[in-house]
Amino acid sequence: MTKLTRGKPKLAVWKFTSCDGCQLTLLNHEDELLKLLGDADLAYFPEATSSHLKGPYQLSLVEGSISTAHEAEKIQEVRAASKYLVTMGACAMAGGLQALRNFKDAGEFTSVVYPMPDYVETLHKSTPISEHVTVDYEARGCPVNTDTLIQVVRAFLFGEPLPETNNRSVCVDCKKLGLSCIMLDQGITCMGPLTQSGCGALCPSFNRACAGCYGPRKFAHPEALERHWRQLGIPEGEIARAFRGIHSYSETYRNHTLKEEAKVGESN
Ligand code: SF4
Ligand code: SF4
Ligand code: SF4
Repeated sequence: MTKLTRGKPKLAVWKFTSCDGCQLTLLNHEDELLKLLGDADLAYFPEATSSHLKGPYQLSLVEGSISTAHEAEKIQEVRAASKYLVTMGACAMAGGLQALRNFKDAGEFTSVVYPMPDYVETLHKSTPISEHVTVDYEARGCPVNTDTLIQVVRAFLFGEPLPETNNRSVCVDCKKLGLSCIMLDQGITCMGPLTQSGCGALCPSFNRACAGCYGPRKFAHPEALERHWRQLGIPEGEIARAFRGIHSYSETYRNHTLKEEAKVGESN
């Protein structure tokens, strides 16, 4: 049972539709988490403790997207019980891979995947938390960047400064590290030019193209990158797939993906 100390701010961690990866990443940073819990009470975090202290909470961390009617109700309760609400990771920020169904008929998928689809209670769409309630901060990544998250948690619990924001792309970090450009060298799609920096160009450092897990940065221009990919001779199928990642339902990529889906529909 978590010991409740009068006056300590309460932290709660909630799961919605997700793979649990962001919560596990947070748990992997146990040293920072334990330090933090010297001055705060862990009121709710089923992955870490069976105790459940009632709200109100100073801060709720939310993982996952909204994809059932129950979740749509639950997130309203979480918001009402929390002074601040911070989302963890790409599912919560953009709907996740499960949002790929938003571009099709979800019923078709359940009928193919499940032997008894009538028992599957799912909304037609998987949507970001910000479509349902006010979000105070969206911590990016898949999984979430825990260094940033711990800083954000300390800011909302103890009034410390929030992490600095920038509008740099992953490409800038690539250049700072002196990496050669995989996209130009290998003629493959890389989402780095559109993607918010913050991971230190992790994937290009291991000779992998960026899949865009931090999500689009402000003023990203998918059409311009797409034109460039065509000039590099990248096939149309690969170009379409690049936008159908974990941020496919973000506002920046959504229309683009819908347009491409419509083209595929017309050609069938
Ligand atoms: S953002 Fe990635 S790691 Fe986090 S819950 Fe979603 S799929 Fe899992
Ligand atoms: S490898 Fe990707 S992230 Fe790095 S510079 Fe090239 S396009 Fe940008
Ligand atoms: S390089 Fe791209 S896909 Fe890889 S961790 Fe960074 S943002 Fe995510």
